[in-house]
Amino acid sequence: MKIIVQKYGGTSLATPELRSRVCDIIAAHRQEETALVVVVSAMGREKEAYATDTFINLIKESNPDPPLREMDILVSCGETISGVLLTSHLCARGIKAKFLSGEQAGIITDSNYGNAHILYVNPQHLLECLSAGMVVVVAGFQGISEQGERTTLGRGGSDTTASALGVALDAEYIDIFTDVEGIMTADPRIVGNARLLDAVTYNEICQLAREGAKVVHPRAIEIAMQKSIPLRVRSTFTDSVGTIVANQNPVWDNRARIIADRLITGITYTSNIAQIKISIDSHLEPRGIDLKIFKSLAQADISVDFITVQPEAIRFTVNNELAQKTKEVLKKLDLSFDIELNCAKVAIVGAAMTGIPGVMSKVVEALSENDISILQSGDSYTNIWCLVNSKDMEKAVQALHDKFELGNK
Ligand code: ADP
Ligand code: MG
Repeated sequence: MKIIVQKYGGTSLATPELRSRVCDIIAAHRQEETALVVVVSAMGREKEAYATDTFINLIKESNPDPPLREMDILVSCGETISGVLLTSHLCARGIKAKFLSGEQAGIITDSNYGNAHILYVNPQHLLECLSAGMVVVVAGFQGISEQGERTTLGRGGSDTTASALGVALDAEYIDIFTDVEGIMTADPRIVGNARLLDAVTYNEICQLAREGAKVVHPRAIEIAMQKSIPLRVRSTFTDSVGTIVANQNPVWDNRARIIADRLITGITYTSNIAQIKISIDSHLEPRGIDLKIFKSLAQADISVDFITVQPEAIRFTVNNELAQKTKEVLKKLDLSFDIELNCAKVAIVGAAMTGIPGVMSKVVEALSENDISILQSGDSYTNIWCLVNSKDMEKAVQALHDKFELGNK
C-alpha cells in the first residue's frame, strides 16, 4: 500500500469554504492503491475562535502561570475541532474518512508538557484504518506520554506530527500545505519580490528554519531526513507545485535536480529579542564573574543566546518576555548593565557560504547604506547574523535580499 501524508496549516482550514477546498484536494489525491493520511492544525490564527492562541489566552485570563498538564489538555482542543470538522465534511462528500487523536494515531512522546518530543509512533491502528480504505485525519500537535497524559509538541508541532507519521508509515512523500507558494528566499509578507525555490536540500531548509523561517518546523525536517522521505511545501490556495525538500535528484513530476547546497539560500528574521550589555570593570569585579553570571541565569531557568564575552563587557540576548526576570537576577549580583528591548535578528543563510570571502562586507554595506546600526553580529559556517533594532528589521531583510540579488528580477 502506497501512503501519502498531507498536512494542512491553520489558515488553510479557517473557513467552511477553505475546508471545502481542502476536501477537493484530498479527493483529487485519493487514487486506488494510494492511502491518504491528513494531519491538521487548529483553525485560523490568533483572535480566531478555535485557534491555539485563543485557548492560551483563555486559560491565562484566570491564571497567568497555568498548570502545564491542564494547559496541554486545553490547547490541544484546536486540532481536535478542526480534524473532526474536516472528517465530517469528507463524509458528507461520500469520502470514507475517520478522525484520530494524536493518542489514537499512536504518537508517543516524553512528558515535557508544551514542548514534548515524539519518542516513537505505534501506527497499528492507523494502518488498519488505511487498509479499510479510509482517509485518516489525524490531529496534529498532540501526543500522549508513556504515562498516559496528553502532551503537545510546541509551535509548528503539526509539521512534526506529519513527518513522524511519514517516517513511521514509510510514506512516498509528505505534502505540507500552507498559505504561501512554497519555500522562498525570504518571507513574502516582508519581501515583495521574494523568489520561490523549486527545490532545496534538507540541510538548506533546516538552516533556514532554525534561523527563523517558520514555514516548516526544523524538527519536522530532521525527522523526514532520517528516512530521506521527500517533503513538499505548497499552497492550499493555488495549484502551484511548490518546493521539494529532498537530498538529491528526487524523481517528482520530472522537476528540478538538486546538485548542491546554494551559496546563499535566503534571508531570515526573528523578533522579540532583548539585548543585555554588562560592563565589567576588571579592577572592581572579582575573577570568575562571567561564570557567576551565567550560572545564576541558568539557575533562574533563563535561556540565553548570542553570547559575546570580552574582558570589558559581556553581551547576550534573551526573549523579550524574559527581560524582567533577567534584570532581577543581574540586580542581585550588583552589576551595572543596560537592556535594549525590541531587538531583532536578521540572518543570511547558506549552507555553502563558508570560506567565501567578501560576504560579511556585503552584509555591512547593505545595512549601512540603509542607515541600520548593527548592535551585535556573529556567524557560523552556514549563516551570518546581525542584531538590529526591531524598527529596522523589515528594511534590513529587504536590504540584504537586494544586496545578494536573491529576488525575482
Ligand atoms: P501554517 O499555519 O500553514 O503552518 P505558518 O504560518 O506556520 O503556516 O508558515 C507559513 C508562513 O511562513 C507564511 O505565511 C510566511 O509568512 C512565513 N515564512 C517565513 N519565512 C518564509 C520563507 N522563507 N518562505 C515562505 N514562507 C515563509
Ligand atoms: Mg506552521
